[in-house]
Amino acid sequence: MALFGCMAFLFAFSGCGHGYAALPVDQKFIALTFDDGPSQLYTPKVLEILKEHDIKATFFVIGRQAQALPEIVRNVKAAGHEIENHSWNHLFLLSALSPRKIEKEICTTQDIVFNITGEYPAFFRPPFGWTSDQLTISCQRLSLPVIDGSIQPGDTAKPGKANIVSIILRSAEPGAIIILHDGGGFRFYKNRSETLEALPEVIQGLKDRGYIFVTIKELVDYHIKSAQSPLIHKATIN
Ligand SMILES: [Zn+2]
Repeated sequence: MALFGCMAFLFAFSGCGHGYAALPVDQKFIALTFDDGPSQLYTPKVLEILKEHDIKATFFVIGRQAQALPEIVRNVKAAGHEIENHSWNHLFLLSALSPRKIEKEICTTQDIVFNITGEYPAFFRPPFGWTSDQLTISCQRLSLPVIDGSIQPGDTAKPGKANIVSIILRSAEPGAIIILHDGGGFRFYKNRSETLEALPEVIQGLKDRGYIFVTIKELVDYHIKSAQSPLIHKATIN
């Protein structure tokens, strides 16, 4: 398929070894992101909470789930949130596959999101945050910067609502990227109730500390325009 039109980002991100975990900015901007959806059960509930608090977030969707639940993807888009690419199958070792297989996982997800929303994702987050030189090369070839996260409370492991809230609030800093999940997890860890319970306190706690919620695109745009200090790079995430 055609490239997705993101050359400005590609240029700005040149020198990227793997993914970016946070983007330092001089404003108290923070990005809330949700991985592994859409989920029929949890994504609508996340959307309700975001609406109640009047904030926008970024959803890194799994392509085959987007194909199965297009109406939910449309609702995410209609509510003004950003939809990005989290691969087609969420394979455990995607980053170790051949370039052809890596790019198929990415491109099929680009296509399904475009078919549903009319807009291609502009960023890619690899499954489990695992990158490789080949994955980086493929993402550069496809003009899709890799976005990790800097705050990960591990909500898929159900650490408890209080832990999710406290990890996020004590780790918050301008330009941070928070990773939560509206889907995912194995067996009894598929239950996202702790994420839903924590979310209102997370949002209110960050608002009380003066943070302004932005999408990944907004954070990257602001970072590039403000020409801040060099990007923070954290190669490994959980
Ligand atoms: Zn994931």
